[in-house]
Amino acid sequence: MSELICIKDNLEKIRNRIEQAETKAGRPQGAVKLMAVSKFHPAGAVVEAFEAGQLLFGENRVQEASEKFPPLIAQHPEIKVQMIGQLQSNKVKKAVEFASCIQSVDRIDLLKEIEKQCAKLNRNIEILFEYHTGEESKSGYTTEKALRESIEAIINGDFPHVIPKGFMTMAPFTEDEALIRKSFITLRELSERLRKDYQSLSLTELSMGMSGDFEIAIEEGSTLVRVGTAIFGERDYSKS
Ligand SMILES: *Cc1c(COP(=O)(O)O)cnc(C)c1O
Repeated sequence: MSELICIKDNLEKIRNRIEQAETKAGRPQGAVKLMAVSKFHPAGAVVEAFEAGQLLFGENRVQEASEKFPPLIAQHPEIKVQMIGQLQSNKVKKAVEFASCIQSVDRIDLLKEIEKQCAKLNRNIEILFEYHTGEESKSGYTTEKALRESIEAIINGDFPHVIPKGFMTMAPFTEDEALIRKSFITLRELSERLRKDYQSLSLTELSMGMSGDFEIAIEEGSTLVRVGTAIFGERDYSKS
């Protein structure tokens, strides 16, 4: 099946659709970054995307990403991979060895572990706060209060190796466009409140939108879309 997929053509189509969505939303060209989500796809697919100019990748599982990316990054240091899946604390040690950002921070205990492991490596790492906005999704902070406590701990100096850059969410898996939009609006409005309240931080990133809904996300202020299937084709979960 994958022989029928042309990653280069797909990337070009997605880039065009992003530009059109930026224009439609009255936003400047280049306002939205494209992450290629390569989970369940082999290193060869990542190389193909890289050769078509793609530098930013997303992965869900630390083990899989740790097999694929460090060799590629050693050859091409401009390649970046970010973690976007729910992260167990015992996977953090490995993740911070190669990930440029962890987008799926959903609890203060995870921040503690990220801080501990980054301190050992003497490196800083960017993070996004994942917020729960869609009924079916299980990940993300579920209350604004808990999220604020994490942000305040960072401002307090508890996690000096952690650089918060903004927020991430996943819309519900539904055909109902109004529900999807509502989820993105929830994150945008939350981010506006928190930016106002915590001006010492630069919480500018809004990671929202996937293959099926990134145009809606761009209309609602996304700065980074995470696109897998529309670039690499369907994932074969039977191989996991
Ligand atoms: C898998 C995944 C994506 C990409 O989904 P597609 O529908 O294949 O574009 C984006 N974000 C997260 C958090 C994911 O787990």
